[in-house]
Amino acid sequence: MFKPVSNIFNNIIVEKDGVTYYKTYVAGNWIDSGEYIDIKSPIDLSIIAKVSRLNWQRIDVALDSIYNDGRWVVRDVPGWRRVEILEKAAQIIESVKEDFVQALILNAGKTRSQALGEITAVIDRLRAAHLDARKIFGEYIPGDWDQTTTETEAIVRREPVGVVLAIIPFNYPLFDTASKIAYSFIAGNAVVIKPPSADPLPVLMLARVLELSGFPKEALAVFTIPGSESDKLVADERISAISFTGSSETGKRVIEKAGIKQFVMELGGGDPAIVLADADIKLAAERIAMGIYSYAGQRCDAVKLILAEESVYEELKKLVVAELTKVKVGDPRDPDTVMGPLIEVKAVDEMMLAIDEAVKLGGRIVYGGKRLGPTYVEPTLIEFTDKDAMKRSMLYQKEVFAPIALLTSFGEVDEAINLANGRKYGLDVAIFGVNMEKIRKLIRYLETGAIYINDMPRHGVGYYPFGGRKYSGIGREGIGYSIEYVTAYKTVMYNFKGRGIWRYLL
Ligand code: NAP
Repeated sequence: MFKPVSNIFNNIIVEKDGVTYYKTYVAGNWIDSGEYIDIKSPIDLSIIAKVSRLNWQRIDVALDSIYNDGRWVVRDVPGWRRVEILEKAAQIIESVKEDFVQALILNAGKTRSQALGEITAVIDRLRAAHLDARKIFGEYIPGDWDQTTTETEAIVRREPVGVVLAIIPFNYPLFDTASKIAYSFIAGNAVVIKPPSADPLPVLMLARVLELSGFPKEALAVFTIPGSESDKLVADERISAISFTGSSETGKRVIEKAGIKQFVMELGGGDPAIVLADADIKLAAERIAMGIYSYAGQRCDAVKLILAEESVYEELKKLVVAELTKVKVGDPRDPDTVMGPLIEVKAVDEMMLAIDEAVKLGGRIVYGGKRLGPTYVEPTLIEFTDKDAMKRSMLYQKEVFAPIALLTSFGEVDEAINLANGRKYGLDVAIFGVNMEKIRKLIRYLETGAIYINDMPRHGVGYYPFGGRKYSGIGREGIGYSIEYVTAYKTVMYNFKGRGIWRYLL
């Protein structure tokens, strides 16, 4: 069982017969609904908690109160105070950091350094909220550029949309929640969170921190329901914007069900890495390998397709394999572990299926390929010489959310562009090399949301905006850049016709 040590979490937990039950937060109240979701640790599949599950009746009542009351209360919190509240939340997280580290290790299967990385990103993100604030501006439009609007003028304001629904994936439960709350709240919105069913514990703990920081209680809720029962929530007209991070398939369903709303959709990815002949091959191999195994490949910006120019192909392959050989797979509580488990058994099953299929299509396993336990796998590299066969593989066509990548060579830059753009995703691409003409051409033709030159893709805290094209999504996450999706323009037109203000017209 997982129970945080700090007493600030005492009131969100009930212990009964050796079981730890977590309540959920709804507009100022911690609720024990009497029905629970079992929370398992991916480390050994043991049940580490039971989380109170909400039914639609409770969500309906909560939405009423947040819509009628909460969304107005939050707008009455002055901007400087919103910044103070998020700063206070950052301070509290720092003071109970070890509880968050343990929650991310046990519930999400992260290693200690990955957990610390996520928590540091959360603290930095909350503290950067004043930078989002600089994007909440409007415009002044003079009217004398059209005869019908002469002697009028307008101000175009940016206003909060009201209630933002933040839907959170399992891989960054804490950071994604903090980030979506930061930009939605700083812009003056109430926020309702749909946490991931696999690892909601860090989200509930964050809600408690926000409550203690002075976040307006009427304007925040965590709706603990399974995604499979969320259609009604997504479609609800009391919600004006949806900020979703998750798979492309779920994202598509959310858009279909939601109706007329504003969206930020951060969807599936899995990134190509293109290695040019003049690249620093050692650096490229290190970063690419890390892009494969970091958090067991369960990152939207994980490297899933390696394209190397023919003259450096063999050397790159050798060095990437050498890097993967160093990866110690195991229990993330062991300080020597570099790569922990996948989130669930099903994810390993899918990876094994994808490997079998790739081998049948002519792919060759150059490293890994084996299951090491119900949720543990070796990081895996699969080489293809027949590119048409590779393009038919599940690993090329889908996002297999696991530590596995394809490797092939290319001759001309155009071939690399076609192979990278041939995937339905368009989140990021990494390019390793020096030749500016080739890099410039790649920048021009790659259909992707971001390009990392001489580094692996890593979205980090969102200091630089990230987000996808094609199946990878709509909109951008990032400090300042998400404000436009959770605000709406309001044009205020002032009519001064005949009042003599613009004297040159008289
Ligand atoms: P997921 O299975 O799509 O779930 C994401 C969230 O959506 C969960 O909270 C899930 O709830 C919920 N959900 C499921 N069905 C729903 C429905 N019909 N209506 C509303 N919500 C629903 O994704 P995941 O496996 O948690 O996360 C991994 C995916 O996220 C990968 O594809 C990854 O690439 C993507 N991702 C993208 C970015 C980016 O920046 N583009 C960043 C991180 C992750 P339950 O947990 O209850 O099912």
